[in-house]
Amino acid sequence: MLTRAPKGTYDIVGNLLNDWLYLEGKLRTLCDDFGFNEIRTPIFEHTELFQRGVGETTDIVQKEMYNFRDKAGRDICLKPEGTAGVVRAYLERKLYAEAQPSKLFYISPAFRYEQPQSGRFRQFHQFGVEMFGSDSPVADAEVIGIAAQMLERLGIDNVKLNLNSLGGPECRKNYNAILKGFLEANLSSLCPTCNERYDKNPLRVLDCKNEDCQVVLKDAPLMLDNLGEQCTTHFNELQTLLDAMGIDYVVNPRIVRGLDYYTKTVFEFISEEIGAQGTVCGGGRYNSLIEECGGAPTPAVGFGTGIERLLMTMEVSNGKRIYEPSCDIYIGALGAPAKVAVVPMVMKLRASGIYAEMDVLDRSAKAQMKYANKIGSKFSCIIGENELENKEVTIKDMDKHEQEVVQFEKILAYMLDKKSEESL
Ligand code: ATP
Ligand code: MG
Repeated sequence: MLTRAPKGTYDIVGNLLNDWLYLEGKLRTLCDDFGFNEIRTPIFEHTELFQRGVGETTDIVQKEMYNFRDKAGRDICLKPEGTAGVVRAYLERKLYAEAQPSKLFYISPAFRYEQPQSGRFRQFHQFGVEMFGSDSPVADAEVIGIAAQMLERLGIDNVKLNLNSLGGPECRKNYNAILKGFLEANLSSLCPTCNERYDKNPLRVLDCKNEDCQVVLKDAPLMLDNLGEQCTTHFNELQTLLDAMGIDYVVNPRIVRGLDYYTKTVFEFISEEIGAQGTVCGGGRYNSLIEECGGAPTPAVGFGTGIERLLMTMEVSNGKRIYEPSCDIYIGALGAPAKVAVVPMVMKLRASGIYAEMDVLDRSAKAQMKYANKIGSKFSCIIGENELENKEVTIKDMDKHEQEVVQFEKILAYMLDKKSEESL
């Protein structure tokens, strides 16, 4: 156990970490460009927040929460998703008193006790945006727009936007009655969880992952055919905006989303290339959540995306490693006097923003060059007795297989030149 990470967790290190940093950088720039500000909420909250904010009839609350009693007996839960904590902070920090709408984003770990498989972990990470304070379809279009722009900037082009509307509380009530009528006639063919949800939240039945249930549910009446006038207009206006923005989508009346709190717009960007866990990014409007959590009625729209699934999709889409940083120059040293010259040289280069590397293992000249190759150094040189005496060194361009003699005192200027030439 000592040398094994808990099931469903993994370490982010090496190339994977570089991919992460690259991705996070892109996401932060994206949010800057769209005017979303970062929020960092605690890793754990009162369990009650998720029961209320995610919904009693969701898979998350029913099966997947990492909750426990702390030493004072409080019921605490590691966050299973990002939205509930942001809503709590919006209310507790009175963010609603600031200029509206509030546009927030988060990048955060999330925890769910589920069976690990490809693209599914127990500790995973989410990036999400939330916009509080507007019921306009323009806000929906903006949130879908930032998601689409994110995918475009990351070079992910094999995903399709699926769009649906779940209606507001009024049309939902009417539809629930119609849906319940259909489900009632089929209860014996549905799984126990569906039977339980039939009572509490019939819409959730449609999201059941059980294949036998899905066969029955194929013929269920659709929310989209039962939308009221106001929600129909909202949905149509959103589609007009998406058309005008040139964003491709399909209306998919079967998109329900995993959380209880959605109203009106719901959407998913679905990849056809990463297997069963194909939803790369999903979101929608949740106009009743803030009120549900104790605030004044406040319209809200947002999306969340799994960082792991984004990275998987990026690898499939781009077909290469996402980001490969490499050393600018390796400066080898042979013998103790050479080291005394090389160490300050390397430090000086680094202080000027040139990533220089040196020998710390007393390797032979051959082994040092092998190492320089291994770390992908763009330039390399070795300083021994002759170089010390002449105060100059032959610097090799590892890609071009060219070399140039450079005086010690000019190495920094030489590398700065190379850097601006080739933007190393
Ligand atoms: P799924 O149908 O895959 O279980 P979900 O409906 O539970 O997804 P959400 O609650 O909407 O997903 O979470 C948003 C995003 O978080 C998902 O689209 C996915 O990218 C990611 N995600 C959810 N659960 C996991 C997990 N266990 N491991 C990795 N990523 C996950
Ligand atoms: Mg899930």
